[in-house]
Amino acid sequence: MRSLVALIFFLGVVVIPHAALAQVEAMTTIADETSTLPLTMHLHFQYTFIGSSLILTLMCFAWARALRSYSMAFLALYFSIKSLWILADGGISIVGALTDSFLLLKMENSLLAVLSIVILVGFTGKLFSLKKRSQKYYLLLRRLSLILIITTPVSYFLSQLEFWLLIQVLNSFSLIALLYVARKLSENQDPLPIIYSIMLLVQLSFNLVGYVLHFNRVPTQAVNCLDMLAFWFMALMVTYIMGRRYYGHLQDVKLAQQRAIASAKTSQMTQNELLVVQQEGQELLESRVQERTLELNIALQELETANQELQERNTLDELSGLYNRRHYDQKLLAEFRRSRRNLTPLSLILVDIDHFKKVNDSYGHLTGDKCIVETAGVIKALLQRSTDVGCRYGGEEFCLILPETDEKGAYTLAQEVCNSISHHRIFSNENFINLTVSCGVTTYQQEKDVTPEVIFASADKALYKAKQAGRNQVQVGLLSEI
Ligand code: GH3
Ligand code: MG
Ligand code: MG
Repeated sequence: MRSLVALIFFLGVVVIPHAALAQVEAMTTIADETSTLPLTMHLHFQYTFIGSSLILTLMCFAWARALRSYSMAFLALYFSIKSLWILADGGISIVGALTDSFLLLKMENSLLAVLSIVILVGFTGKLFSLKKRSQKYYLLLRRLSLILIITTPVSYFLSQLEFWLLIQVLNSFSLIALLYVARKLSENQDPLPIIYSIMLLVQLSFNLVGYVLHFNRVPTQAVNCLDMLAFWFMALMVTYIMGRRYYGHLQDVKLAQQRAIASAKTSQMTQNELLVVQQEGQELLESRVQERTLELNIALQELETANQELQERNTLDELSGLYNRRHYDQKLLAEFRRSRRNLTPLSLILVDIDHFKKVNDSYGHLTGDKCIVETAGVIKALLQRSTDVGCRYGGEEFCLILPETDEKGAYTLAQEVCNSISHHRIFSNENFINLTVSCGVTTYQQEKDVTPEVIFASADKALYKAKQAGRNQVQVGLLSEI
């Protein structure tokens, strides 16, 4: 963009002095021939016009390219064609430099005139975005352009004066049409159409002044000068309009940017707040989860302890502190299977207090209970191995499960039980009570067709034998006898 502007100014600086030099040259020549001031003035105008038009056109093209604006491109085209037309009208033409043909000169003149008006019409349409804003006026301007193009060939059949008149009429007619459209659009409180209308009105006035001067036989050079003045004025106003428009566009962009930044800031702030709330929520949730997990773990531990206690209570006999009957059943089955699997001996001792009914009858049930407790205590103390299990089978009967214990070992232990209890004195209600027990022992050593029930039956049979034999003794039972 900067280089383009530099180029334009370079051209301007080069062209204008060049034009001025050419003007001095022409003034000298013309001064020699005619020595008339208007003609000199006309040439002065023309050379300045060439330089300024070139700058204007190039600037507009640069602007159009920088802004990517179609209406600016139209304007640049309009300025260049209109300048060429005014110059051709004043005697400086591209075709004139190549040929003297009157027809070709007229063709060039009519083409430039019609084209400049058509482009002005097109520019107006683009400037006000007529296609979007008003389809009616857009069609009107399109038809106007069509009429202008159709009239171009007609100009060939006219004399120079008639042709000049036709162009002026068409130009004025077009300006009136554009004025009408601009006035209609200005009803929407938009300042741009108003300024544009003023510009068109001034242009129209210049045209009218041009007619009057022409018909009052004022030299064509003076009328041409008027055209150039009108062009400068129009260029000034249109440039002002475009400047305003661009400024408005910049303001809109700035406003949109500010709004976008503000909304981005707001959304960022909202996002941050949301993040803080989320973090707080997360922390709260985590601490609550931790609290609950801790509570749950404590509750689980308590539950486990309670379960253990419950299980122990379920397996223990409340009175004696030995294992109960249910545990005895499970344990005997488990130890029987283990013994069979490991080929190890398994012994069972049944212990029954002798004449216990008498104890109850003589001292009462509470003393009887105390006797059961103390007998259990003696048995418990004699069970040395951790694998030995002492159970209260029911009433005053006890079962001792002895894994990995042979008949001899079981017999010895049963004897110890008998001896210990017979030497144990129980004190209750100022009475000393001496108890004796009878024991039945049996040992399983992988004999065939033996079950836990058979083992028990064998021990029970041995116990019965001990009772029969006089009590306070141990008898051994054989599994084969069951
Ligand atoms: P034996 O020498 O033939 O074993 O005679 P015994 O009297 O001990 O035999 P029996 O089985 O006939 O009597 C057992 C008695 O034990 C019957 C019951 O009153 C008593 N008994 C059973 N369980 C309990 C108990 O938990 N507490 C008390 N105090 N007595 C019980
Ligand atoms: Mg009994
Ligand atoms: Mg008994």
